[in-house]
Amino acid sequence: MAAGERLIQYKGEVTRWRPAAARQRSDVGHTFVFGLSDGRVIDGSRGGNSARFLNHACAPNCEAIETGDRIYVHALTDIKPGDELFIDYGLEIEGEISEDIRAQYVCHCGASTCRQSMIGHRAESS
Ligand SMILES: [Zn+2]
Repeated sequence: MAAGERLIQYKGEVTRWRPAAARQRSDVGHTFVFGLSDGRVIDGSRGGNSARFLNHACAPNCEAIETGDRIYVHALTDIKPGDELFIDYGLEIEGEISEDIRAQYVCHCGASTCRQSMIGHRAESS
């Protein structure tokens, strides 16, 4: 898998962040939501595919490219078979970010650039 190739579509229900987060409260340890740039999320726990098992990292080897309501996961670097795949979730949280929410989405990826959270500031490229 070479850098830039499309790996998989991130499937799931397009919804608001809060209902998706409420569903996940009973499923601590797994984050199956992916933030869209307009503030909605794709909830991979509803109608999702295996892309929902991608883990978050602050220095990922995959990136998500948004096309309309769809998210495609592309390789950022050359990826060997068996390599674990990571994306930067870059969650957009509506409203105030409480300590509870921070704690739920804390990151321990260990990268030197780790921002200790899965909550984005997504770099706006367009
Ligand atoms: Zn991190």
